[in-house]
Amino acid sequence: MSAPRGWRPAELVADRFETASARTLRLRVADWPGHLPGQHIDVRLTAPDGYHAERSYSLAAPFDGEFVEITVQRVTDGEVSGYLVDGLPVGASIEIRGPVGGWFVWDPARPAPAVLVAGGSGIVPIAAMLRARRKAMADSPFRVVYVLRDPGSLFYRDELADEEIFLAYTRAAPPGDPRLPGRLTLEELREHTLPPGPEVTCYVCGPTGFVEATAAQLVSLGHAPGAVRTERFG
Ligand SMILES: Cc1cc2nc3c(=O)[nH]c(=O)nc-3n(C[C@H](O)[C@H](O)[C@H](O)COP(=O)(O)OP(=O)(O)OC[C@H]3O[C@@H](n4cnc5c(N)ncnc54)[C@H](O)[C@@H]3O)c2cc1C
Repeated sequence: MSAPRGWRPAELVADRFETASARTLRLRVADWPGHLPGQHIDVRLTAPDGYHAERSYSLAAPFDGEFVEITVQRVTDGEVSGYLVDGLPVGASIEIRGPVGGWFVWDPARPAPAVLVAGGSGIVPIAAMLRARRKAMADSPFRVVYVLRDPGSLFYRDELADEEIFLAYTRAAPPGDPRLPGRLTLEELREHTLPPGPEVTCYVCGPTGFVEATAAQLVSLGHAPGAVRTERFG
């Protein structure tokens, strides 16, 4: 699967709000070469005066012909995310480039056990891995930990309800959640992930501070540093 060079037009054909501030965009891209779960695309917006802004977005769904999906979280005062969440109308086109990245990927053709830890919108590439595993009907063990602020920030609510996922709320938990809101602890990470092993790969994605802290915790649980793959959203 070769990564193409250059920008391609991508038409917004459908959308869906995952939360009040996060929108999934389904884009049609002619001659899309395919991608692996975990890879991302670069998105380029061009203003009428020619000014360009580029940002990266993880692919949210497995390879599906000429369609790709991304989920964008609105960042306060963000130049690009605000437009992608609130401004871009269905039927309009943007430009994309990719797929990008070859390390933070889970390959359904070689299904292997995985520990997947997401912080906030870091769930996007991890959801792509879950979807690809389901599509491939792979039975490789997955353990998923999703750390999020509150119930209103849960992405892919209906779909994730069918998965075995440990949800750790940091600010406010839903009624009846036996866990008090707060940071994910080392003990929780140990309990809800796979023990280290030669075949186990860990994937950690989210804001930089979260990714660095969680990767260090996984190493302290005995995972080899090379078995902990990370993606930082900034
Ligand atoms: C490989 C990769 C994959 C990514 N995948 C996704 C994805 O799937 N979904 C998604 O929503 N975003 C993703 N991002 C983040 C995305 O690229 C942008 O950084 C984000 O949308 C903010 O862009 P902006 O133009 O709106 O904000 P900017 O105008 O660039 O920044 C505005 C302000 O927000 C702060 N800021 C920037 N980014 C963030 C952030 N992520 N969280 C909190 N504050 C921030 C800046 O410091 C600044 O103060 C990914 C980033 C990378 C590198």
